[in-house]
Amino acid sequence: MKKNLLIFAIVLISLISFSEVYVILYHRFNDDRYPSTSTSTEDIEMHLNYFKDNNYKMLTPEEFQDYIDKKTDIEKGVLITIDDGYKTTKYAYDLFKKYNIPFMLFINTDNVGYPDYLTWEQLSQMNKDDIVTLGSHSAKHDNFVYMLKTKGKEFTLKFFEDDLKKSIKTFQDNIKFTPKHYAYPYGYYTTGMDKILEENGISYAFSMDYGPFIPEYSKYYIPREPLTEDWAYKPHLNYVMNRKALKVKDIYPEEIPIDEEFKISASVDLNFHNPILYISQEGIIPNYVKDDNIYSKDSYKIKKDNNKIALFLRDENNIEHVKYWLLRPIKELN
Ligand SMILES: [Zn+2]
Repeated sequence: MKKNLLIFAIVLISLISFSEVYVILYHRFNDDRYPSTSTSTEDIEMHLNYFKDNNYKMLTPEEFQDYIDKKTDIEKGVLITIDDGYKTTKYAYDLFKKYNIPFMLFINTDNVGYPDYLTWEQLSQMNKDDIVTLGSHSAKHDNFVYMLKTKGKEFTLKFFEDDLKKSIKTFQDNIKFTPKHYAYPYGYYTTGMDKILEENGISYAFSMDYGPFIPEYSKYYIPREPLTEDWAYKPHLNYVMNRKALKVKDIYPEEIPIDEEFKISASVDLNFHNPILYISQEGIIPNYVKDDNIYSKDSYKIKKDNNKIALFLRDENNIEHVKYWLLRPIKELN
């Protein structure tokens, strides 16, 4: 009996320690003009039913903060985020209001009030609602990867900081609100931005790398699952909600000079089989395993700006663990 209890306790602890949070990303709603970034409200209703039927806890940004800080255990959590603040956000807002689902809305402040975008008056109204948490999505919605490639890192970090400060001030000037959260435009980030965000009062930030989040990851580069276009449908939803966050060390490369050849490598602390290595510009690439390290067989040079690298492994229960990261081309400074 005691032994059973012990086994039960071990199983329970291992369940808790393997918990993850799935951060969902939406952009536009019921918008046939932009199918690749739009999601229908019918599909969102299906997502909400799926989360409920499968016992995912719908998190507030505060509960998510506690999870990041390891103050609370969440077996399976979902956090809803929306980027850009398009006018069609109101369709999602009505739906989330109906079901009382908290969500975060990230605003590129230079665009507020433009045709197709919400106005400050609408944002001010939404900001009074407990289910809505506004965050910064920069001021200008610039492309930081392109900036890194053409202007170098120092310029980009300085631009990033000025743009962030401008965005925060625009929130304060228009609706007397100071954002505490950030989502990178296009999900494009680089190292050093975390420190700038922290110094400016941002407590966590989202990329557009895919996969679930665990507190072992940096809270300033939190991955998200976009559920737009055909990724809003059940098969993709079911796939992404059943994979786990891969704990990985020493990922390489993250930043690389444009002309430099590189091999990809990562170190994994997991009993795994069937590793798959992927880079956007090539697709799935040959790999080999040595000790706990996975390496690409071949060398590559950067061919495109937006390159995600991903490592997929399967554990002893054949469950997929995944880690995506953004490969940033850096202009070499002589
Ligand atoms: Zn955006």
